[in-house]
Amino acid sequence: MNCLNKKSVEDINVFEKKVLLRCDFNVPLDGNGNISNTKRIDDSLQTIRYLIKNNAKIIIISHLGRPNGSKKPELSLKPVADYLTKILNVNVRFISDDIKKLSKEAFDSLKNSEIALLENIRFYKEEQLNDLDFAKKLASFADIFVNDAFGTAHRAHASTQGVAKFLPSGCGFLIKNEVNILCKILNNPERPFLAILGGSKVSDKIGVINNLIDKVDTLIIAGGMAYTFLNALGYSIGDSIFEADKVSLAADIITKAKDLNVRLVLPVDNVVGENFRADTNSLIVDSDSIPEGYIGLDIGPKSERLFSDIIEDSKTILWNGPVGVFEWENFRHGTLKIAQAIANSNAISVVGGGDSAAAINLLGLENCISHLSTGGGASLALLEGKNLPAIDALDDK
Ligand code: AMP
Repeated sequence: MNCLNKKSVEDINVFEKKVLLRCDFNVPLDGNGNISNTKRIDDSLQTIRYLIKNNAKIIIISHLGRPNGSKKPELSLKPVADYLTKILNVNVRFISDDIKKLSKEAFDSLKNSEIALLENIRFYKEEQLNDLDFAKKLASFADIFVNDAFGTAHRAHASTQGVAKFLPSGCGFLIKNEVNILCKILNNPERPFLAILGGSKVSDKIGVINNLIDKVDTLIIAGGMAYTFLNALGYSIGDSIFEADKVSLAADIITKAKDLNVRLVLPVDNVVGENFRADTNSLIVDSDSIPEGYIGLDIGPKSERLFSDIIEDSKTILWNGPVGVFEWENFRHGTLKIAQAIANSNAISVVGGGDSAAAINLLGLENCISHLSTGGGASLALLEGKNLPAIDALDDK
């Protein structure tokens, strides 16, 4: 993976300019339409404050949820405008007019350091289609484009990739920090370097495993995908989640790890249930004694201890994906233990993926992690060694 060779907002003269800023304000809302976690907005404030300080006229674009190209009032960005107004102590103009009908002079009345927030960009089908005319329209409002929406950087959409074709462009601090920290740990990690990969499927993580296997010292594979690896080693896995067509791939990875002298670690025991249900009866069994018909739903206490010891001995830790069915209270113990062990360690720690980040949040351990990524899909793509189209489109340094 290449380190960021793109211009950042600090490399562009934004003084008193109209700046189109793409943020990722895709925040969770509760049943009453209130924002239940503001992290994604808070992480964007550094760039917004920088633009305010530089007297820029700031036009912010974001998406929220999946309106699929139609106007859905429950997915309005108005609560975000209200939150920004409160936290920045400035009036944020909320623009709900039809973007396609706005003239290119629509934002000429913006004063220095003033902010306008456009309504949810995914209310327009042209956004996800990366429609060139729509991107051109967005570009016509401003002099400069700054992208700080890391969470959606793996998608080529009109307001992320398309618009960059028409304006001088660069990234904000959030993208810069996210890319640089991943770049550092992948290219030059302090050793021992441990990666913990969980989640349900080998097929979702195979790109990451392949890219990490020659970079890490230890690789822990847990969660649902561990069972395909245990099967490849000849264990009976009962009715645990399993991808038959990935068994030989798992066997190849086991061999490759041996050849590269990488320690590949799988769960040694498991919490197994009678059914795939939150309230199913459960047992703790070693990995070589999973009873027929039972389903592996979490790691057991021996694995928790083993993984925690490895975590304690590591200097760099990358964690992506829960080690059990984290959504269900009875099967989230292992994931919470991993979160706690990482938080307790002195290692550089990078956590990505919705459930892993949720485990950290649940325990209130955000400040004990070096870097909690705001983008699941985007950080996975970087971990796979892929370039992100919305970052690729920005001007080179
Ligand atoms: P991912 O999005 O790939 O990180 O996967 C997260 C999902 O993996 C969550 O929905 C978990 O419930 C699921 N998961 C973790 N462990 C298991 C398991 N043992 N069996 C089935 N699903 C699992």
